[in-house]
Amino acid sequence: MTPPKGFATRAIHHAYDPADNEGALTPPLHLTSTFAFESAEAGAEMFAGARDGHVYSRISNPTCDLLERRMAALEGAEAGLALASGMGAITATLWTLLGPGDEVIVDETLYGCTFAFMRHGLSKWGVTITHVDMSDTDALRNAISDATRVVYFETPANPNMRLVDIRAAARIAHGAGASVVVDNTYATPYLTRPIELGADIVVHSATKYLGGHGDVVAGIVVGRAADVAEIRVVGMKDMTGAVMAPFNAMLVLRGLKTLSLRMERHCSSAQAVAEWLERQPGVRRVFYPGLDSFDQGGVAAAQMDRPGAMIAFELTGGLEAGRAMMNRLAMIERAVSLGDCETLIQHPASMTHSTYTPEERAEHGIGDGLIRLSVGLEDVDDIIADLAQALPAPRPTSAA
Ligand SMILES: *Cc1c(COP(=O)(O)O)cnc(C)c1O
Repeated sequence: MTPPKGFATRAIHHAYDPADNEGALTPPLHLTSTFAFESAEAGAEMFAGARDGHVYSRISNPTCDLLERRMAALEGAEAGLALASGMGAITATLWTLLGPGDEVIVDETLYGCTFAFMRHGLSKWGVTITHVDMSDTDALRNAISDATRVVYFETPANPNMRLVDIRAAARIAHGAGASVVVDNTYATPYLTRPIELGADIVVHSATKYLGGHGDVVAGIVVGRAADVAEIRVVGMKDMTGAVMAPFNAMLVLRGLKTLSLRMERHCSSAQAVAEWLERQPGVRRVFYPGLDSFDQGGVAAAQMDRPGAMIAFELTGGLEAGRAMMNRLAMIERAVSLGDCETLIQHPASMTHSTYTPEERAEHGIGDGLIRLSVGLEDVDDIIADLAQALPAPRPTSAA
């Protein structure tokens, strides 16, 4: 057996041979809603699951299929599924895995819309949502019970950068018969592969680093073939209809080709920006897994190949100082989303995480003064220069 190819090689070549498509270097875009059966019998066999093939693009499509295979190969999973958005991936997965009376244990800190889906969607449907600070492994061990069907978390968490030890969480969850679902949007499979560490299912907002260019909204699920097949026919096809358009699959396939290169640059620039920020007098705290001051350095080293490119920080002047700083930026864009070529900055409490009430934010570790920075691919000196001119000037010390 030949050894598996490297990450970058798989991201560029996996599951595609130009010889199958008239030599076309770039995989074809299959813009079709439906697929013709060679006979009535063949169509019936496909519906019965006795014959492979595509039927209708709300179930599967060859361009999406290539993206699904490639993402599975990058995550070390058996199968993948392409969906309309990260929220499409998350909702299709959880609607499939959970039913009335089940419990899902979720981390205290979640992306704003995921939190809203738990609180206002799943809970309305008779699912019990239990929030646990999963950076504390004992807290998860104490909370889990026979009623727990799913343990769900992001690592690093959006927006406060807290990490969850995937191996430990998987051991505890599996001991209680629960499945582990990890949102790997922040790390990407280039930095962390949760399946290899024991997770059952990985979900992504492919809108972020996987697409990488701010031009597509997309989602991905990977996991065991049987689980992914069920999410496809139940959660995606019937419950949400949240299918990825073939054109969007093409954009994400293009993004994947440069994922390893982009992540290297994102990470080295973020390290430099985080270290610089930490030295500035107007900055109270910087949360970044690559800093010595980061209190979960051991978890970062055990499961992240590099510390990623998302930074959270607080200014000594709190929220007002943060707003003023954001308004003085000249190049860095004030925008939600992340993982783009452009450096993006936003204020979670009033933007991405305004789905939480102020009390919920306090309870869930999202400070009102916290600012989130997605370090882009510009020259790092230009990123730092823009931050430098925007930070509050150090208070003049009196000469006397
Ligand atoms: C953006 C994001 C999502 C939602 O993805 P969409 O593609 O916007 O639907 C989910 N989880 C995390 C961590 C995100 O950053």
